[in-house]
Amino acid sequence: MIKKITKKIIKKTVSTKAEPRVSKSEALTYDVIVVGGGPAGLMAAGVAAKDGAKVLVIEKNEELGKKLLISGGGRCNITNANPNHRDFVSKYGKKGNFLFTPFSIFSVNDSIKFFNDLGLKTKVEPGFRVFPESNNSIDVLEILVRYAKNNGVEFKLSTEVDHFETDGGLIKSVVLKKGSPEKILPDGKSEIFRALDKKSNASGKTLTGEEIKAKSFVLATGGKSHPETGSTGDGFKWLKEIGHKVADSNPSLVPIKIKELWIGDFAGITLENVGISVWQDSKKIINKKGRILFTHEGVSGPTILNMSKDIGDLLQYGETKIAVDFFPGIGLDELHEKFKKLFDLHSNKKIKNLVVNEVPAKIFLKILGLLKIDGEIWMNSIMREERAAIIDKLKKFELRVSGLMGYDKAIISSGGLDLEEVDFRTMKSKLFDNLFFVGDLLDFDRPSGGFSLQLCWTTGYIAGKNSAK
Ligand SMILES: Cc1cc2nc3c(=O)[nH]c(=O)nc-3n(C[C@H](O)[C@H](O)[C@H](O)COP(=O)(O)OP(=O)(O)OC[C@H]3O[C@@H](n4cnc5c(N)ncnc54)[C@H](O)[C@@H]3O)c2cc1C
Repeated sequence: MIKKITKKIIKKTVSTKAEPRVSKSEALTYDVIVVGGGPAGLMAAGVAAKDGAKVLVIEKNEELGKKLLISGGGRCNITNANPNHRDFVSKYGKKGNFLFTPFSIFSVNDSIKFFNDLGLKTKVEPGFRVFPESNNSIDVLEILVRYAKNNGVEFKLSTEVDHFETDGGLIKSVVLKKGSPEKILPDGKSEIFRALDKKSNASGKTLTGEEIKAKSFVLATGGKSHPETGSTGDGFKWLKEIGHKVADSNPSLVPIKIKELWIGDFAGITLENVGISVWQDSKKIINKKGRILFTHEGVSGPTILNMSKDIGDLLQYGETKIAVDFFPGIGLDELHEKFKKLFDLHSNKKIKNLVVNEVPAKIFLKILGLLKIDGEIWMNSIMREERAAIIDKLKKFELRVSGLMGYDKAIISSGGLDLEEVDFRTMKSKLFDNLFFVGDLLDFDRPSGGFSLQLCWTTGYIAGKNSAK
């Protein structure tokens, strides 16, 4: 499916303006090599090429931007347009202080303008989330690929970088994995790009273990979430090898696994605007209101994802529970009144048939089961204590957390490159004078809501500009 989509994108992005910048003899020497064809890498590549650099993107997948395509449930929440700048930056936690300079160079507004100017219409949804008007992540990828291509960026797809070679304080080259099938753009050899450009201007030979030199290198290999998209943490390994500090990763913005096996019966149920709290040792640690989505193994949804890091931390100290409040805006006394009236109104119904608008029937029946209340009982036979117990459960429906789901379900991974080792005015390494960093590789916490892709646009832009100098 993705392959088809990428083909479509590439076909649509053919530009007669894309003049090859590399002659046959110098085909393997570049000003800038970008490793990783995700959103951050594509942004950096396009910007560097626009500034006149000869740029090569090396991507191990057959397709570009695999993770971008699945972002935002396929709708791609490209940024967050919170007009309060301090509030916006605070979403990146304490480390957000590193971002004041980068955002002053390429801001949220600059990013939206960048996409709008290239033809992407955008809209703002609740929570300041910005999406393409088309609700289609393909359109975002298409813009990025077209921008890069029109500025003359070349691509090697299905080509995996094995490691970097260093030379003192400089990166000398990237070395490709032995046996990587090579696809060069624009040479007409790649399955994907064949339709684009029949004129081969690159050598087209099969490269195995080949070393490719450049003046500058942009590392854009992402983090470790959803490894099937290509983000397998290769960049972290290389960075450690060449002497950079890298904090260990964990799945982050990730669904929560619940111990109660019956949770799977609720899979697919989504509740809007419920209270969601996190408890440890009878202490309420986190309290939010938002959406919860029940899955086969636990719970998800934006509010849960954003709590997942804290829940992961809490689990190290003991049993942690999530409690759902189906009536977050109503106090206990008021709820008792509401239920008394409801029970009186339906006194001639069986309790199992009571419809409570705020609570899905499956969950209500489960609550009766947990309280050992027989569903066949008539409402007028329910004792006051039983009604009170039902209300208590509706205010605090407890689920025991067994853990976090893995990288395969995570939106991002925590950890990454130590931010102290980056010059945020240029996105350059403080250890290597020609190495630049972008995107998920960097050790920033952030919630869901467009904050990850905004990092890609800002760091990609700055790295592109400076690597091209
Ligand atoms: C399900 C899901 C939904 C998401 N939704 C949103 C959203 O709506 N909004 C938002 O802001 N963020 C979202 N994100 C996060 C966002 O997608 C990432 O922050 C973003 O993709 C990171 O971009 P990147 O370019 O840094 O890395 P990636 O997108 O991970 O790209 C890295 C690229 O490097 C390549 N690569 C890795 N190793 C090598 C190697 N050895 N050789 C060559 N190439 C290599 C990979 O194949 C990959 O293509 C979502 C993530 C997921 C998983």
